[in-house]
Amino acid sequence: MGNLDGKVALVTGSSRGIGRGIAERLARDGALVAVHYGSNEAAAEETAATIAEAGGRAFTVGAELGVPEDVETLVAGLEAGLRAHGESTLDILVHNAGLNLMGRPIEVLTPEEFDQMVAVNIKAPFFLTQRLLPRLRDGGRIINISSVSTRIASAHGIGYPLTKGALEVFGHTLAKHLGSRGITVNSVAVGFTRTDMTAEVLADPANLERNIGLTALGRIGQVPDIADAVAFLASDDARWITGTKIDVTGGVNL
Ligand code: NDP
Repeated sequence: MGNLDGKVALVTGSSRGIGRGIAERLARDGALVAVHYGSNEAAAEETAATIAEAGGRAFTVGAELGVPEDVETLVAGLEAGLRAHGESTLDILVHNAGLNLMGRPIEVLTPEEFDQMVAVNIKAPFFLTQRLLPRLRDGGRIINISSVSTRIASAHGIGYPLTKGALEVFGHTLAKHLGSRGITVNSVAVGFTRTDMTAEVLADPANLERNIGLTALGRIGQVPDIADAVAFLASDDARWITGTKIDVTGGVNL
C-alpha cells in the first residue's frame, strides 16, 4: 500500500529528467500517473513502461506546450487516458515542463525567445490549471517546479528566472484562492541538477566545479533529490503546507 493509492497525477514534461523521476516516484507511492511529453514519445513510453515494470500504473499524453491549442491537446489526451483507466478526476498536478534558453543576457534576448519562455513556463501552467480546476478533487495538490534562479541573480539567462518568479507568484496567489477547497499549491525551487537540460553546462569541468562549490552539500543534485521533495508535498504529510516555496538545492549560495 502506497500513501497515494487511489490518487491520480499529471506530471508535465515527465518523459525525461526531473519530471520522469517525479512520475516514477508518485507511481511508486501508488498514484496513477499521466506521463506528459512534448515531442519525445519514445522517452515517455519508456517512462510508462518502467513504471509498469515496477508494478505501477501510468499512461502517456503528448502535447507540445507553448503553441496554439497546447492546453486543449493536453487535456484531450489526459481525458482519453483517464477514461481508459476508469477515472475522470485528478488529485495531483505537477507543472514541471520548462524551457530555459541559457546564455541569453538582456543584451541579446529577442522578443520571440522571451515570448517562447513565457508561453511554456507561465502561460501553459496557468491555462492548464484553469482548464483542469473543475477536475481537480478537493484536497488536491498543485506543485510548480521553479528554480534557484529566482533567489540568486543569473543575468546570463535573464528571461528564464523572470518566468519562474511569475510561476511562484501564481502558486502562492492560487493557494489563497483554492484554500477553501483544501487544495494546496506550492513551488519547489530546484538547484543544479543533472539532466539533459544541464548536460552541456555540467560537461565543462570548470562549470561543474563552480556549481559544486556554490552548493553547501557539496555535489550536483540528482533527480531523486527533487522527486522525493515533490512526493512529500503530494502526500498527506504536507497537508498544512501551502502558498510557499521549498528550496531543494542542497543549499546553493547560502
Ligand atoms: P529536461 O530538459 O531534462 O526535460 C524537460 C521535459 O519537459 C521533457 O519531458 C520535455 O519533453 C518537456 N518539455 C520541455 N519543453 C516542452 C514543451 N515546449 N512542450 C512540452 N513538453 C516540454 O529538463 P529538466 O528535467 O532539467 O527540468 C525540469 C524542470 O526543472 C524545468 O521546469 C526546469 O526549468 C526546472 N529546473 C531544472 C534545473 C536543472 O538543473 N536541471 C534547475 C532549475 C530548475 P520531451 O521529452 O518531449 O522533449
